[in-house]
Amino acid sequence: MQTYDYLIVGAGFAGSVLAERLARGSGQSVLICDRRGHIGGNAYDHTDAAGLLVHKYGPHIFHTNSRKIFEYLSRFTAWRAYEHRVRASVDGKLFPVPINLDTINGVYDRNLSEAKAGEFLKTLAEPCATLRTSEDVVVSQVGRALYEKFFRGYTRKQWGVDPSDLDAQVTARIPVRTNRDDRYFTDEFQWMPRHGYTSMFENMLDHSKIDILLNVDYRDVKKQVQYRELIYTGPIDEYFELRYGKLPYRSLEFKHTTHDQEWFQPVAVVNYPNEFEFTRITEFKHLTGQQHARTSVVHEYPRAEGDPYYPIPRPANAAIYARYRALAQNLPGVHFVGRLATYRYYNMDQVVGQALTLYKKLARTHDKTKTSNGFDSEPDGTLGRRGMHHQPRKRPILQPARA
Ligand code: FAD
Ligand code: UDP
Repeated sequence: MQTYDYLIVGAGFAGSVLAERLARGSGQSVLICDRRGHIGGNAYDHTDAAGLLVHKYGPHIFHTNSRKIFEYLSRFTAWRAYEHRVRASVDGKLFPVPINLDTINGVYDRNLSEAKAGEFLKTLAEPCATLRTSEDVVVSQVGRALYEKFFRGYTRKQWGVDPSDLDAQVTARIPVRTNRDDRYFTDEFQWMPRHGYTSMFENMLDHSKIDILLNVDYRDVKKQVQYRELIYTGPIDEYFELRYGKLPYRSLEFKHTTHDQEWFQPVAVVNYPNEFEFTRITEFKHLTGQQHARTSVVHEYPRAEGDPYYPIPRPANAAIYARYRALAQNLPGVHFVGRLATYRYYNMDQVVGQALTLYKKLARTHDKTKTSNGFDSEPDGTLGRRGMHHQPRKRPILQPARA
């Protein structure tokens, strides 16, 4: 039986960052497995039949305010500057989202200045003593009419519940602006991996101490190898065989299409809050900067069943999760990390941060000789910092043993 220091379940951001750090930073041997046929988790991208780079699981835009996280990932990829812009199709027109001065002037047919827009919003807003739900967050800032046009329908489609039944944190992700800034994010670091996410993950995992096993569930892997510690990044309820019931996750169906035209829409993402079954259309060339005579897009259809993509932030679900977390905390040698294992609506950078924090803790227990703060050592490989490209993996990706 092959023996490893660590078995890591899931080759997304959480699992891959930990594999990279434990191997490269602490000299630990790692087997990382995934039931999907690829690394990268939900951030996986690939070239489609037309030769266009697409994100299999919907648009992934990297943004962070953490220099540490940006610099850490910069060891494995060069970047392309990209600031995300989104429009919402409302009443047959495209308006900037987040709601900004142009949205307000467009919807209300005004010509307000920034200062006047703030006063105008105050006349629309319905103040609310405590911002408990996702409805409260929006209505207290922009009033009911803009809430109905831009948020209610989208949220009901996306989450399958009314915003009044969802925690405030969901719509609080989207700010309201009275200036003309139409960027989706205002983070300090807004970049896309220049050669795509998968290439970045390949570079991360290309280490002699890391073995990768794809197309296999960890429940089969654990019978075939020995390991000292387990890092689990899958759904936490599944780990405990649904002992306290199923934790609700929202799923999506992605419909990818390619079109015989150079461009499909004016920005990367157009949201459809009130029409159609899908929530948004993403055109990848805006994100990747690729030049091509044709263009590929994806429509996202929210689903109750299917792969778990979004933890659903509601008090009842938080209570179920708390019970699973209590079980998890009492399991020596097993570590839960990532969006599904900690049931958190986390962006990629937050998952990287969470994984680096766990690494720091683990490194202290078995690594006396290496980094003090967990991740400031240089990579030991031959990766250049600028213009780096996908390095062909030197170690083979293992195939699951079939019974
Ligand atoms: P995942 O990427 O889900 O990886 C977990 C892996 O574990 C999966 O590959 C799964 O197959 C594997 N696994 C689970 N159970 C098992 C098992 N039993 N055996 C073997 N393998 C198993 N974030 C941003 O910052 N910007 C964005 O623009 C953005 N857009 C998003 C759009 C969509 C549609 C979605 C769904 C998410 C988006 N995110 C975005 C969030 C981002 O995808 C996550 O923060 C990040 O990918 C989570 O990484 P993870 O490693 O925790 O989980
Ligand atoms: N949202 C909305 N209308 C929009 C954009 C967002 O109602 O035009 C709400 C919706 O509930 C969505 C949430 O805000 O799920 C968070 O949006 P975000 O773009 O961050 O979602 P993600 O990219 O994570 O799917």
